[in-house]
Amino acid sequence: MVTRPPSNTIDFDAAKLQRLGYARELHKTLQPISLAQLRQQLNMRLQTSLEVERIVEMFFHEVQRLVPLGAVSYQLHACDLHLEFGQRASHSAGYRLNHDGDFLGELTLRRNQRFTDEELGQLESLLASMLFPLRNALLYRAALQTALRDPLTQTGNRIAMQQSLKREVELARRNMQPMSVLMVDIDHFKQINDQYGHLIGDQALIAVANALKDSLRNVDMVFRFGGEEFMVLLSNTDPIGAAMVGERVRLAVQNIQHLVHNQPLPLSVSLGCATLQGAESMDSLLERADQAMYESKRGGRNRLSMAG
Ligand code: GH3
Ligand code: MG
Ligand code: MG
Repeated sequence: MVTRPPSNTIDFDAAKLQRLGYARELHKTLQPISLAQLRQQLNMRLQTSLEVERIVEMFFHEVQRLVPLGAVSYQLHACDLHLEFGQRASHSAGYRLNHDGDFLGELTLRRNQRFTDEELGQLESLLASMLFPLRNALLYRAALQTALRDPLTQTGNRIAMQQSLKREVELARRNMQPMSVLMVDIDHFKQINDQYGHLIGDQALIAVANALKDSLRNVDMVFRFGGEEFMVLLSNTDPIGAAMVGERVRLAVQNIQHLVHNQPLPLSVSLGCATLQGAESMDSLLERADQAMYESKRGGRNRLSMAG
C-alpha cells in the first residue's frame, strides 16, 4: 500500500485573501501612506490579477494614497486596448512603458492641478510596480487570443464560436432580441486547390476571410466553421437585417481582386441565413443555416437563401 505524507490544505477563499490584504477594496477610502509602503502594497496587489483592465484600475485607485489623480488612461493600439478610469482633467503626465525592447502601452495620468516634480518622481517610482504584472497580463491575453483564433485566416476558431454562440443566444433570450447567423461556404474551392495547389488555395481562403471581416462591423463575430466554411454571428439582428448583411458579404467576396499568376481569380460564396427561434438549440440554428446554404448551392451558387 502506498502511504502519502499528510498534506495541509490552504483554501485561498475570498475571506482569507481579504485578511492577507489582497481584497478588492476599490470603493473604500484608503489612508495615505509613504512611498516605500505604497510600493510594497502595489507590488503585492498588482500581482493578484492577470487582467490588464483590473491592473490599471488597481493602480489608479492605490496611487491616490500618495498622489491624488483625477483619471488614468491606458492605450495599447496593437492589442486594441483603450482603457479610461476617472474624469478627464486639464493637467497630464504621460508615460510610454517599455521593457526589454517590448512596448507595453502608454499610460496617461490626469488631474486638474499641475503635478509637482516630487510627485512626478513618486509616480515614476510607483510605475515600476506595474511593469511585471502588466507584462504578464498582456502575455496571458495574447495566449488566450491565440487559443481562440484560427491561425490561417485570423478569424475565431470552433472554440471561440461555441463560446460566442452560447453567450449571444443567452443574451438574445434575456433581452428578447432577435439574433441571426450566416453560414458562408466558398464556391468550387476544390477546383482552386486542384488547379493551383494548396498554397494558392490558402491565399484565396485568407482573401475571403478578409473580405468577410471588412464587410462586417464586428470582426470578432466571424468564425472558421470548417475547411472553406465560415460562420457569422449577428447579434440583435432580425431576418431582414441579416439578409442585408449577407448580401453585403456576398458582394464583397464577388468583388475581391485576387490575382493568381497575374490573372484575376474569380471568387464567390453561397450563404445560408437563419434567425433564432423560440426555444431552439444552437445546433438546430446552425443546422437550419447550413440547410439554407445548401439551398443556395443547389440554386446555382453565389447567392443567399433564408432558412424556413
Ligand atoms: P462547393 O461549391 O459545392 O462548395 O464546392 P467546393 O469545391 O468548395 O466544395 P468541397 O467541399 O468539395 O471542397 C472543399 C475543399 O476545400 C476541399 C478541401 O481540400 C479544401 N480545403 C479545406 N480546408 C482547406 C485549407 O485550409 N486550405 C486549402 N488550400 N484548402 C482547403
Ligand atoms: Mg464546404
Ligand atoms: Mg465550398
